[in-house]
Amino acid sequence: MKFLPIHGLLALASLSVACLLPEERKNDGVRQVTRRQVGNGTPVGTGDRFRGGATAPRGLGTQSMTFSTLLNVNEIKSGLQGLVNAYGIETFETPYKTYEGARIIGAKVGGSGGNCTDAYRVFFNGNIHARERGSADNVLYFISDLLYADKNNIGLTYGSKTYTSAQVKTALSAGIVFIPLSNPDGVDYDQRTNSCWRKNRKPAGSAVGIDLNRNFDFLWDFTTTFAPNVQSTVGSTRPSSETYHGTSPFSEPETRSIKWVMDTYSKVRWFIDLHSFAGDVLHSWGSDENQSKYSYMNFMNSSYDSVRGILTDTPGSGRGYGEYTPTKESEVNVGAARRMGSAMSTAGGRSYTVMQSSALYPTSGASDDYAYSRHFADPSLNLIHAYTVEFGFGNTAASCPFYPSVSQFNANIKATNAGFMEFLLAAVEYGLGDKSTC
Ligand SMILES: [Zn+2]
Repeated sequence: MKFLPIHGLLALASLSVACLLPEERKNDGVRQVTRRQVGNGTPVGTGDRFRGGATAPRGLGTQSMTFSTLLNVNEIKSGLQGLVNAYGIETFETPYKTYEGARIIGAKVGGSGGNCTDAYRVFFNGNIHARERGSADNVLYFISDLLYADKNNIGLTYGSKTYTSAQVKTALSAGIVFIPLSNPDGVDYDQRTNSCWRKNRKPAGSAVGIDLNRNFDFLWDFTTTFAPNVQSTVGSTRPSSETYHGTSPFSEPETRSIKWVMDTYSKVRWFIDLHSFAGDVLHSWGSDENQSKYSYMNFMNSSYDSVRGILTDTPGSGRGYGEYTPTKESEVNVGAARRMGSAMSTAGGRSYTVMQSSALYPTSGASDDYAYSRHFADPSLNLIHAYTVEFGFGNTAASCPFYPSVSQFNANIKATNAGFMEFLLAAVEYGLGDKSTC
């Protein structure tokens, strides 16, 4: 296996964008609107290509073609219904309605099936950030490919990455829960307005929207839990900011829905939150550099609040802080990330870099950190190896760089889907936790 080259972390941080544009990152999440570009990248589909679920989606791993339009919000729903009709998979709605009254819908595939809540060990979440176009498509098409390949006893091909029929069945055996579209209000708005919209659509004072990926219960109150000089990059308390973290952890129905999946499918062991665009596979932690020496030096220890998030200090030296991760867990976190990154690079499109999340920039309230933190905060909860995958390219020809061109959109599907496949195989090999069935 070919491993990606190791670069200096600071050099990487300056090259990568990852969900935030450079001006948003520097200036408390404020975006300057530029109107130089006029195109919007791949058009959003009109109508319903799945005809209310009469047709099931198929991805790019089981057929050779090019998608010329993105799925619209209704098509994500009808595509899911198509999978229900074609393969008998089971869907769920989380108990929380969005501000605009939408339901957050997911489904379960593989595992031991039926109503067994213990059979699902891998959770894919799509499009928590609205403008990151193609995220929902990537998730839905991948599951569609898995189901089609399984039913027809064939393998999968993504660029020069191929998987056998036996590997498809192994991957499905992990049991998967997925939410293709976790921010339906935001995506609907972004698709209607081409406004490069990132957040949800709940009014917040005189502004609109909460950054859902700063709203999870992990060091959420960053004005207390992070060093003063890093706080402006960690999140924002200003409702007009792209990184506004909301009024309390899990104040938003969208983030509560993701927590609900982890609570309901309590044996979930592996989690991916799918973002764009940086070409990164990010593993835990996102709060500070990792360390495995001092178990007391962790996110629950308020005596480190004033120094958390400073990446240049040395943990254990003076007031230096690093986030604790046990060596064995860390090796698995990194190992699966490397496999995923390597597969994504091989599938074509672009090369992917594997690194710790905080190396991009320290964050608070992010979904991956919350998922991995659960078993530290409450030892009765399952360990979840959690990742942020930043697929794709910045499209300099579009009004919003998060809107991919048609060739980028198709390359992104192949890359993420190869990454997902490799991730499932890695999950099975590293372990799914206890094997209890029901
Ligand atoms: Zn994002």
